[in-house]
Amino acid sequence: MPYKPLKLHKSTHYIELGSYQYWPVLVPRGIRLYTFEQIPVFLKENPYITDGYRAHLPSKLCLKSIFILSNETVNIWSHLLGFLLFFLLGVNDMCAVLPASGANREDYVIYCIGLFCFQVCMLCSVGYHLFSCHRSEKTCRRWLALDYAGICVGILGCYVPGVFYAFYCNIFWRQVYLVTVLALILAVFLAQIHPDYHSQEWQYQRTAIFCSVAGYGVIPAIHWVWLNGGFGSTVVQLFLPRVMVMYLIAGAAFLFYISKIPERYFPGQLNYVGASHQVWHILVVFMLYWWHQTAVYIMNFRHSQPCPPLYTSSG
Ligand SMILES: [Zn+2]
Repeated sequence: MPYKPLKLHKSTHYIELGSYQYWPVLVPRGIRLYTFEQIPVFLKENPYITDGYRAHLPSKLCLKSIFILSNETVNIWSHLLGFLLFFLLGVNDMCAVLPASGANREDYVIYCIGLFCFQVCMLCSVGYHLFSCHRSEKTCRRWLALDYAGICVGILGCYVPGVFYAFYCNIFWRQVYLVTVLALILAVFLAQIHPDYHSQEWQYQRTAIFCSVAGYGVIPAIHWVWLNGGFGSTVVQLFLPRVMVMYLIAGAAFLFYISKIPERYFPGQLNYVGASHQVWHILVVFMLYWWHQTAVYIMNFRHSQPCPPLYTSSG
């Protein structure tokens, strides 16, 4: 539904801050915060966040709003810092971790792909949370689409090193799973082009699609356990708990995301800090970090322990 931005804003300098009037220091002129009732319908997603909304802003002020305390501040900064973390991890990997592990060119490529995907995921999220207050609904929707695309890229960044090192000694299955994962992610990208994909009505389909893409990993994981001789084998005992922790973090993050807990029980009290989306953001960073550390661990294991003859003979 199109709406007209309030003309009032051009002539008036707002330094109003909703009900949060104790933070007036860094507010650039022209930005004010709104209550849930005041924001445009397409921004009304979470009724338990009652105040602290930015809205009706041109791009420049969206960018400037990074320095004010709004209900998106923690969302923006958590993934901006997440981006910085994965950037620095990349530098550290290239300069220290990979050389020390005796990595070959393939390892470097896999690490670059994984960390690049994580960084893209973080930046898409930052972009969405920065520009979700844009005065044009179309622009907001585009950023939302990019945020979803970013999550897909993040999931891809988990699969690539995961599958690569899990099936290090079985090139056939490694290729099968890498190709199917790529095809899955590509299918989700194509689905996102559908005009209805980002509508409220498609909320459940969207959630189902994301869960299937993330949950698909269970299939190669079970296959990997079986190929490695079941739960009793050393390599399975070493790495299966790490995979399970990864899914536990992902599951917890997702539960916060869909349930809107804890703000559901404290409406209006967690507008700025402590809301479910912030917990989701922090858990996503932690999960990607955990997965990166797992990839380092499994790479070191693979470099120190040669593939069993059973697999090397079959490629
Ligand atoms: Zn987010």
